[in-house]
Amino acid sequence: MNCKQSTDLILPHLEGELDPAQAAELDAHLRGCPQCRASSDEQRQLGAALKTQALRFAAPAKLRLRIAAALEDEAAAESRPRMPTASAPPRRPAYWRPAAMAASLVLAIAASSGMTAYFTLPRQQDTVVQQVVSDHIRSLMAGHLTDVASSDQHTVKPWFHGKLDISPPVDDLKDQGFPLVGGRLDYLDERPVAALVYRHRQHPINVFVMPADAGDQGDGAPRGMESFSERGFNVLHWRQGGMSLWAVSDLNLAELRDFQKLFETGTAQSGS
Ligand SMILES: [Zn+2]
Repeated sequence: MNCKQSTDLILPHLEGELDPAQAAELDAHLRGCPQCRASSDEQRQLGAALKTQALRFAAPAKLRLRIAAALEDEAAAESRPRMPTASAPPRRPAYWRPAAMAASLVLAIAASSGMTAYFTLPRQQDTVVQQVVSDHIRSLMAGHLTDVASSDQHTVKPWFHGKLDISPPVDDLKDQGFPLVGGRLDYLDERPVAALVYRHRQHPINVFVMPADAGDQGDGAPRGMESFSERGFNVLHWRQGGMSLWAVSDLNLAELRDFQKLFETGTAQSGS
């Protein structure tokens, strides 16, 4: 048995799911392999910690009845013959069901007990949205909105040369009500990025530009525009020309979207 096979079997082993021959084989590997033994110990301790009383509580009777009823409905639906039609949704594989039931059980408990529950860790993108807003706030508070203050795109764009491995698109949108204020280097998602600063009336807009592989899930698929709201700021995320762009402002969403459209069209047309 090698470490890859061993790793796959540690959890079933702890749960007593291996047949005696497999269990003996795994035990033999664990005796000879400190890494797998450590991993097995770790998982056993985690399992023990999760089984302590502190983390468990009994579901109220009403909830148990609701779940039992839901399970019965599910079973009834399963046993009904299905007519294959073109529009029928693909049947989920059976292994989904326990997970789906567990998920709805957790949701039902959370909903019925009124407790605040956090089910998921923040996705990478959520943390980038938070950083975008933090960078925006910092740029306003520190009086460090721009490293290069200029309304001339032919001054701002070359300023980034040699400082970043991308050339951010820059276009002055003064005639459309969004004058360019300048640019600066900032830091986002663990890398230096270009920050372009625009203004609409008295509202500053930061546009962060980085290579398209950064700050998203990395599959590189085009995904249209996404909008977020974070601490009272609106954030838009989109991609163009192999870059990933984030616009953030206290402008309302409609105005920020107007800006985004002008920016994307303007920079595409000027070829910058
Ligand atoms: Zn091993």
